Amino acid sequence: MAKTGGLGDVAGALPKALKKLNIDARVFMPFYGLVDKSKYKVKKVASAAVFIREKSEAFGIWQTELPNSSVKVYLIKHRLFNGKEIYVSGRIMKGKKYTRAKTDVERFSFFTQSALEACKALDFQPDVVHAQDWHTALAADMIKTRNLSDNFFIKTKVLYTIHNLANQGISDPQIVRYAKISPDFPVIKADAENGDINFMVQGILTSDLVNTVSPRYAVEILYHYQGAGLDNILRKRKKDLYGILNGIDTDFFNPKNDKYIKYQYGREDVFKKKNNKVALQKELGLTQDENINLVGFVSRLVWQKGSELITEDMIENLNCQFVFLGTGQKEYEDHLKRLAKKYPKKISANIFFDAALAQKIYAASDIFLVPSRFEPCGLTQMIAMRYGSVPVVRATGGLDDTVDGSVGFKFKKYSSAVLEKILAKALDVYYYDQEHWLKLQKNGMKKDFSWDKSARDYLRLYQKLVARKY
Ligand code: ADP
Repeated sequence: MAKTGGLGDVAGALPKALKKLNIDARVFMPFYGLVDKSKYKVKKVASAAVFIREKSEAFGIWQTELPNSSVKVYLIKHRLFNGKEIYVSGRIMKGKKYTRAKTDVERFSFFTQSALEACKALDFQPDVVHAQDWHTALAADMIKTRNLSDNFFIKTKVLYTIHNLANQGISDPQIVRYAKISPDFPVIKADAENGDINFMVQGILTSDLVNTVSPRYAVEILYHYQGAGLDNILRKRKKDLYGILNGIDTDFFNPKNDKYIKYQYGREDVFKKKNNKVALQKELGLTQDENINLVGFVSRLVWQKGSELITEDMIENLNCQFVFLGTGQKEYEDHLKRLAKKYPKKISANIFFDAALAQKIYAASDIFLVPSRFEPCGLTQMIAMRYGSVPVVRATGGLDDTVDGSVGFKFKKYSSAVLEKILAKALDVYYYDQEHWLKLQKNGMKKDFSWDKSARDYLRLYQKLVARKY
């Protein structure tokens, strides 16, 4: 319904897997202007209000269900979210016009507060609030603050999931008043000099349990090199910190019935990928050749993701084509655009968001590249394996947990030279040892990346929380 990266996938898939375990999981999200109201049959079910800056701010509660499920989704409707973008940088929609920004920290603390108020309006008393990333990190504080005046959430516990430590939600201290957190609670000043509040820090320290999205990342973030400045904070919660690997929505990501791809296929007829490859080469204006290796890359284009490791030298030296799909920071977008301009028959750079094209790339590519500096879990390598595309990844976080020599290739040192070497090795196998290549593809396709196991792990954490008495 609304997505820029992996959190969108998780919010759409984990609740469905929890429902199968008989948990009454319900999703709360902002009613972004980009949500297709008629496609998802969104209906207004209630309205409520929160008190912000001495004023009552009304919002609507709209309802739908996650596609192909009975999981309820509540959308919080307020002008803060009317624009087409999920994150704002500098401006928001007011009526039909853009006006001065409320910052994202204000938008998401408003959202968190409204979601809790909506529970009350709907008379839905959750055992566990499962808060996702910095955006909802103040949930535990807000719940405790409310418990001072009313008992609605008195039994509610909070699990806080860190999806990416790189984005922390930093705000001036005024946010505490805006978010209606009790001044009696310790608010951790992340920056001693100007007293800034860091939502991520607050979530880590005040939630009942904390987890992140792969076992490896849960260990890495305890150390300075991957802790994004919060390793000391995380070490304080070490015994309450878990790592649970994300899954993927295996109904949606299924090459056997994916409606976005021209030629559907399974493990038995994975050779049909070649037809998808030629179709994509044609669509994107690359040389049409079913035998040349096609390397896919689908990613947000930010510092984390390693797109700058792909160099002109590499392109000159390697016998393969590259298809890039992504948006993000201008410098990374420009780098890929430049490469595509120089090698138009070998490189295609698609600098936009397009879910359908992403599917076509998974289905068409032979190799799927994920060279991240760090990667909390990473979904694209799992989706790629499901589509018989062999992952070449950097050995970090969830990439390290999900890829081994039986399904793909890994490299350690973050450098172009090392990446080129590992790509050359993969290409050697592709061109000269087809039997081994097929084995890699089939092993990847056989792997179970469904949410079933991880949902059971989450259930265990929820049960642990519910059993806790304070
Ligand atoms: P992150 O959450 O850090 O962005 P993940 O690997 O966890 O990375 O998830 C990325 C998800 O977003 C995948 O489903 C991927 O296909 C999708 N995605 C990223 N960029 C684009 C894009 N430009 N167009 C379509 N899908 C994209």
